[in-house]
Amino acid sequence: MGLAKDFFIYLSQNKVLNSGAKRYGLKLGAKSVVAGTNVEEMIESVKALNIQGISCTIDNLGEFVYEREEATKAKEQILNVIEAIHEHQVDAHISLKPTQLGLDIDYDFCFKNLKDIVEAANRYNIFVNVDMEDYGHLQPSFDLIDELSKSYNNIGTVIQAYFFRAEEDIEKYKNYRLRLVKGAYKESSEVAYQDKQLIDQNFVRLIEYHLLHGKFTSIATHDHNIINHVKQFVKDNNIPLDKFEFQMLYGFRKDMQVQLAKEGFNFCTYVPFGDDWYGYFMRRLAERPANLQLVGKQVFNKKTNTVLAVGAGAFVLGRLSKRKKD
Ligand SMILES: Cc1cc2nc3c(=O)[nH]c(=O)nc-3n(C[C@H](O)[C@H](O)[C@H](O)COP(=O)(O)OP(=O)(O)OC[C@H]3O[C@@H](n4cnc5c(N)ncnc54)[C@H](O)[C@@H]3O)c2cc1C
Repeated sequence: MGLAKDFFIYLSQNKVLNSGAKRYGLKLGAKSVVAGTNVEEMIESVKALNIQGISCTIDNLGEFVYEREEATKAKEQILNVIEAIHEHQVDAHISLKPTQLGLDIDYDFCFKNLKDIVEAANRYNIFVNVDMEDYGHLQPSFDLIDELSKSYNNIGTVIQAYFFRAEEDIEKYKNYRLRLVKGAYKESSEVAYQDKQLIDQNFVRLIEYHLLHGKFTSIATHDHNIINHVKQFVKDNNIPLDKFEFQMLYGFRKDMQVQLAKEGFNFCTYVPFGDDWYGYFMRRLAERPANLQLVGKQVFNKKTNTVLAVGAGAFVLGRLSKRKKD
């Protein structure tokens, strides 16, 4: 299980495979978990979810961008999404990643890109969630949020329960709308819990704390045990329904998404779309290789086998050379 996780995380960060995969369009089974490659397709998906009483957070896929041109293009695309949300009057907001907007290029450049987006969204009263990436980007991302919060309040972020510092962060950001997650990246044992049970326990602790003391809580998980625990907790503590929502990813546990909305809970689906789907998709496989079943037969075709075989070869070579160095 650990090796499979490492393998898919490795694939998610491999630039060559990433750009190669773009050429195939939404193949490798990604179609079931990515809502199209353009704004029109995405808006149709959002409308279909809205009809079922589900709101959406839209992620114009992209991350780990190292060229200014690419980051500027990502910003323009997100501005187009904001216009589309307004034009179609759909129930949706924005999710984005700081590395998509150039955090690895230059902090001030990234800040300016993010500011342009938050300002444009603010004009239409649209909320912007700054997704959290790996540990190396954590503090600079909080710095961006701190700085932007001086001028805007349509901004929130994510707390990843696997980090030891999560408890401190949730206290500091309790007046923000926060998405709480377990955490999706491979992190070192110096900064993050590695044991699933410890991560789950911390996740529950953080959820309970923010439900009791925080502004608004987005509980982002597909874990039915945690969802059931939250349902009981909000009942026992008289937490009003408008203080929290459940979130899941597009295409995952669809029946449960609709069921929770039918039960009267606020529900928000994370809707990723665009060309840059490969890293996102591989991280989903890293979390739960059983998701391979979710993508069905399409996974095992000629093209996929080539991509996976090239990836597996590079992964093994990488491990061997790392072992040599160690
Ligand atoms: C809306 C949303 C936004 C996110 N944003 C971020 C972010 O900004 N940064 C970040 O680091 N991570 C983010 N994540 C990912 C998150 O950190 C976890 O990696 C991911 O959600 C997997 O953990 P889990 O809580 O869903 O359950 P897991 O720990 O993966 O699974 C727990 C149990 O739930 C059940 N289960 C899980 N998935 C399924 C399924 N598909 N079908 C059936 N049963 C299932 C199984 O019984 C499983 O054993 C986000 C997740 C969501 C849902």
